[in-house]
Parts: sequence; structure tokens; C-alpha cells
Amino acid sequence: ASSAATDFDFFYHVQQWPGSFCDTKKGCCFPSNVKPAADFGIHGLWPNYAACRPVTADADADAPEIRISKTKKECWPESCNATDTFSLLQVRDLLGDMDRNWGTLSCKSNDSTPFWSHEWEKHGTCSNMDQHTYFAAALQYKARFNLTRILADAGITPSDDKTYFLSSILDAVTEATGSKPSIGCNKGVAGEMQLFEVYLCVDRTGTRPVDCPGPVQGRKCSDKVQFPAF
Ligand code: 5GP
Ligand code: 5GP
Repeated sequence: ASSAATDFDFFYHVQQWPGSFCDTKKGCCFPSNVKPAADFGIHGLWPNYAACRPVTADADADAPEIRISKTKKECWPESCNATDTFSLLQVRDLLGDMDRNWGTLSCKSNDSTPFWSHEWEKHGTCSNMDQHTYFAAALQYKARFNLTRILADAGITPSDDKTYFLSSILDAVTEATGSKPSIGCNKGVAGEMQLFEVYLCVDRTGTRPVDCPGPVQGRKCSDKVQFPAF
């Protein structure tokens, strides 16, 4: 059952810093109690529009004459094929790599399968890739640009007392990948602003770096941020 190709402009390749995920009121948990490496982990590969689009209300067949003045906007496609459910069998040769580089930190489960399943069903089904291609593409992109090393080479290392300029983080990643990333922040238990996620932008094939269009919504950073130890 093949559905029509999804129209989108680029992918966000999103990686999360475990030190920042864990330093929150909710805390974190590790799959099967194995502590993940002090390295960024993949959150997901998300199809995205370059600009949010108004949602046309033509689906309202009951009242086609009604035009609601307040137009809803859609900034990315999601959940494009409810029948294409995640299957571990389709990615079995990738599971070791996924465990090391795409593990859950959520306490909802001690197994990453629900996280992978969520990412596939919400974002992957809109990628125009099959499951194996999608997970392999995300893993390969992470391997190609080692964010932990890119930051370390620029003198940006995890620390519980240093703060870093957001601009130096952006510059280091831009320099190393050739494209402008976006950065997402969260707040630690003491209320401090911390580097939480790095968004690399990738073309529709999942291989070529492109500039990100601007800051991501909802995860704004201040000029100076912490990069907490893990
Ligand atoms: P949060 O509320 O944690 O920022 O985002 C919730 C979820 O919405 C994310 O995990 C992701 O699935 C989706 N999401 C948030 N921001 C974006 C975005 O800019 N682009 C896309 N494609 N998905 C997003
Ligand atoms: P999103 O919709 O934001 O892409 O994905 C977030 C969903 O995946 C949430 O339901 C969240 O609870 C779950 N999840 C499981 N493990 C993780 C994790 O390690 N990091 C994040 N950000 N979300 C996770």
C-alpha cells in the first residue's frame, strides 16, 4: 500500500544531549539500566516545511460555505500513514547501532522500541523512505557529523560550571558541517538555560546539509548557555 509522496522541504536531524535531558525535574532513565555514552543521541529525523502553511478548510464538506477567518497553520507533515507500523524486523541489522546512538532517556519505558516506533509513525511515515532507509539515513548522518567532537574541537566541553556563548556553539557547528544549525534549549533543575538539542538541516534525500531556516519554536536559548556534564 503505497501512499502519495509527501511534500516537504527539508529534514531536521535532531540530536539530544543526555546531560540536559537528565538535568530536569523529570529526570531520566536508561534502557535496561545501561548508562548511555557521554555523546549526543538521535531524537529523530523530521520532515519539515521551510515556512508554515495555512491549512485549507476544504475538508469541511458539511459546510463548504463557511470560511473560518482564523486559519490554522501547519509547519510540518506528521503521521502520514497509520497502517505502516514500526517493525523491529525491518531494522534488525541496525539495532545495535540504534541502541548505541538512538536510545531512549525517558522513564516511560526501559526499552527504546516505543521511542523508535513513535518517531517512525509520526515523522518517518512522512519521509518518503521505507523503515530501513529512514533509520539508516539518520544513523549515517549522525556518524558523519560527530557533534560531541565538533564542539570539543572548538573548546566546548561538558561542564557543570562553565557557560558558553550560544553564538560559539552555532559557529562551531556551522563551520564543521558547512550549514547553519538551530539549537534548542531547556532548563535545568536550578533554572539554568542549557543546550538540549542540536537541529541539523538536511535535504530531502537525507544526505546533503542545508541551512536551517531559523530558530525552532518553543525551545529558545539565551545568549549564554550551560552544557552540563553527563
Ligand atoms: P516539543 O513540544 O517537545 O517541542 O515537541 C513535541 C514534538 O513535536 C517533537 O518531539 C517533534 O515530534 C515535534 N516537533 C516539534 N518541533 C518540530 C519542528 O520544528 N519540526 C518538526 N517536524 N517536528 C517538530
Ligand atoms: P516527539 O513527538 O517529540 O518526536 O517525540 C517525543 C516522544 O517520544 C514523547 O512521547 C516522549 O515521551 C518520547 N520519548 C521517548 N524517549 C525519548 C527521549 O529519549 N527523548 C525525547 N525527546 N523523547 C522521548
